[in-house]
Amino acid sequence: MHRELVFRFAQHLLIFPRLLFLSGSFGPRTLRPAWYLHYFYIPALGRNDFMNVACIYDFDLTLTEEYQQFPILRQFAREIEQKHGITKIDDYFGKLCSGQGIDIGVGAMQQILIDCRDIFTDISNESMRTVYAPQIRLAPGLPDWFPRITAYAEQQGLDLEHHVVSAGFTPLIQGTMIAPYLASLRSGTFLEGARDLDRIKTIVDPNNKREEIIKICKGKDVHEDLPIDQYKFMYENVIVFGDGKSDKRKFNFVRERGGLAIGVYEKGNEADLARAQRDLGRRVHHLVPRDYSANSAIEWVVQGGLEAIAKRTCTLDYRMIQALQLQHLRNQEQIELYSRHLQNCGDCQERSRPTQIWG
Ligand SMILES: [Mg+2]
Ligand SMILES: [Zn+2]
Repeated sequence: MHRELVFRFAQHLLIFPRLLFLSGSFGPRTLRPAWYLHYFYIPALGRNDFMNVACIYDFDLTLTEEYQQFPILRQFAREIEQKHGITKIDDYFGKLCSGQGIDIGVGAMQQILIDCRDIFTDISNESMRTVYAPQIRLAPGLPDWFPRITAYAEQQGLDLEHHVVSAGFTPLIQGTMIAPYLASLRSGTFLEGARDLDRIKTIVDPNNKREEIIKICKGKDVHEDLPIDQYKFMYENVIVFGDGKSDKRKFNFVRERGGLAIGVYEKGNEADLARAQRDLGRRVHHLVPRDYSANSAIEWVVQGGLEAIAKRTCTLDYRMIQALQLQHLRNQEQIELYSRHLQNCGDCQERSRPTQIWG
């Protein structure tokens, strides 16, 4: 009790410098009125912080209409044909990487490096950022989606951040119009030599994006043990977006921990919907067209998800419900306990519904 009072007092002392800080122009986030109220009143009422929520996106074909390297491949289409005999840029990574059993993540980075030696004459981190990234075709409704959904979350008392985890190249994402809205960007990086790209510096393994999700949620390194209330984002407050096979494991990871999983497909493309159902069916809560415009299905679904997070009263570790449904529980008492919970908990029922497909 005594420690609690000292803590509250210390919090009040901190309000004044915070107000000074907030009154300066330190960027749009600190100027939001809700933040002002939150700093001023909420500690005084002894209530907790705004709840942290994260949207974590794949990039290629989730936030874009094409692979991020396509502007480069279009620019050098003639040279690609001369050197590799490839006439359609869609076939570039297919023929040179995956078609030869080379993992597409590290393979794509290495292939670009190889072709930088002769045919891709002006590729550097800088040119990727300033010349090629702005040419990437973004999905409809971007980047306006980010501030709009953040504002909606704020109305629900949620502090929403947007993060991108991509097996692609950091400078190609940094140079797009979405970059200013991201709290973090996790993607591959190149080291530059004397004048152009020299070596691969870091990669994000396309099949292990969940490692990056763990880092985002912990706000620390993967292997550090942390009590759940010290996580920056609880997994049940995470919404993940992806389009393909390489997103499967991250969908499973977040979904089984009670988060929301959203798969996207190309709007109006039946074949792509069938592909998405094959790749992602049962692993996502929703399959929606890749369109982030106002009043789109994705907006409706995410708003619903945010409202569910804001109102959630269930504190059960959702993995127990997942285990129950997968028939992974052997102990009869547990089976009865969690079955009873599921019968009475709207949150858990909602989270265990089969994939809903939006046209
Ligand atoms: Mg993708
Ligand atoms: Zn529940």
